Amino acid sequence: MSIVIVGAGLAGATAATELREQGYEGPVVLLGAEDHPPYERPPLSKAYLLGDDPFDKALVHPAEWYAEHDVDLRLGVTATGLDTDAHVLTTSAGEVTYEKLLLATGAEPRVLPLAEETDVPVAYLRTVEDSDRLRDAFGSGKRIVVVGGGWIGLEVAAAARSAGSDVTVFEMDDLPLQRVLGPTVAQVFADLHREHGVDLRLGAEVTPADLAGADLVVAGIGVRPRVDLAHDGGLDVDDGVLVDSRLRTSVPSVYAVGDVANHAHPRLGRRIRVEHWDTAIKQGKVAAHNLAGGDEEYEAMPYFFTDQYDLGMEYVGHASAEDEVVVHGSLEDREFRAFWLRDGDVVAAMHANDWDAGDAIKAAVESGELPEEQS
Ligand code: FAD
Repeated sequence: MSIVIVGAGLAGATAATELREQGYEGPVVLLGAEDHPPYERPPLSKAYLLGDDPFDKALVHPAEWYAEHDVDLRLGVTATGLDTDAHVLTTSAGEVTYEKLLLATGAEPRVLPLAEETDVPVAYLRTVEDSDRLRDAFGSGKRIVVVGGGWIGLEVAAAARSAGSDVTVFEMDDLPLQRVLGPTVAQVFADLHREHGVDLRLGAEVTPADLAGADLVVAGIGVRPRVDLAHDGGLDVDDGVLVDSRLRTSVPSVYAVGDVANHAHPRLGRRIRVEHWDTAIKQGKVAAHNLAGGDEEYEAMPYFFTDQYDLGMEYVGHASAEDEVVVHGSLEDREFRAFWLRDGDVVAAMHANDWDAGDAIKAAVESGELPEEQS
């Protein structure tokens, strides 16, 4: 049975890896539009962007791993059409037939509407080439405008400041990350960036006049799932490719994982599309199991991490800005654990700079119980 995976990012590469690790011996084809072997994106806004780590460190496997494990990795190949009745993909390098198909096409940055109204170059951050472009533009005396105070925008701001650039961040909400973290914890990130010299403009929609004199605008205003192929194949799509709890799409033999998958989460009891590193890995593994004949539900809770300046954090679960938050530790010192409660149950938890807390925050989300504050 031939299994074809479209998208040689982290989710697709993990699925291919897991198929081999589980002992699946049939043909595995991994198609990737980029020219690089699969790599992880978090370093692109952190250690790689800062110039601290080489690109090789971001690779999922050394380039030779794929041939050594009989994974037919085809780089620089884009799938452009899908016929699910005939089980045929059209690609930039000819037709490819499959018995089972995994869509791991990921997501792409939303385009900044303002881009057409300004002469200042506008950049995005998704690929290693994007990261190279930003690093080249950063430096002492360079004026960098970041549009969007989400995770990517803030990490870019931190890297640009660390490289000595003057940085202005525009965020439409009253605080960066407000919708994810709520005001109490979001304030920590606002203070962090201001203390590091970022000109944080909150509640502010950027205009062309705001960009005058900037060397580069970096837009971090979210991503949209890459669903063109799924549309072409007639799959059900709604903010991503709809998959059931087992990561199966609306068409038999076709699965979807990672940033592109809008998943019916069995424990949350609703659909979520998660744009996180950990989900790409864990969904890739479950999909591999099911592609090879298994019957596993994907039920892991979302997990996310970030590093900005000297603040590292991990977050587990899925809360909203309206949920009540309880903080253990010190927000001022940026060393704390935070727990979000809905109807008395812990639905999400995070820590900042408290690296012993990982198990405790996961346990709180698993059990729903708020732990005692440690002295
Ligand atoms: P992608 O990484 O988008 O990979 C999809 C691949 O499929 C791409 O290479 C694309 O070219 C290819 N492709 C698409 N369509 C086709 C086609 N038709 N034919 C062939 N190939 C195709 N998450 C965290 O949890 N923590 C972090 O700190 C963090 N930092 C991040 C920093 C940056 C700069 C970025 C961009 C993301 C970050 N993320 C982070 C998110 C994380 O990287 C994503 O969730 C993860 O990359 C999703 O993996 P994926 O394989 O689903 O999709």
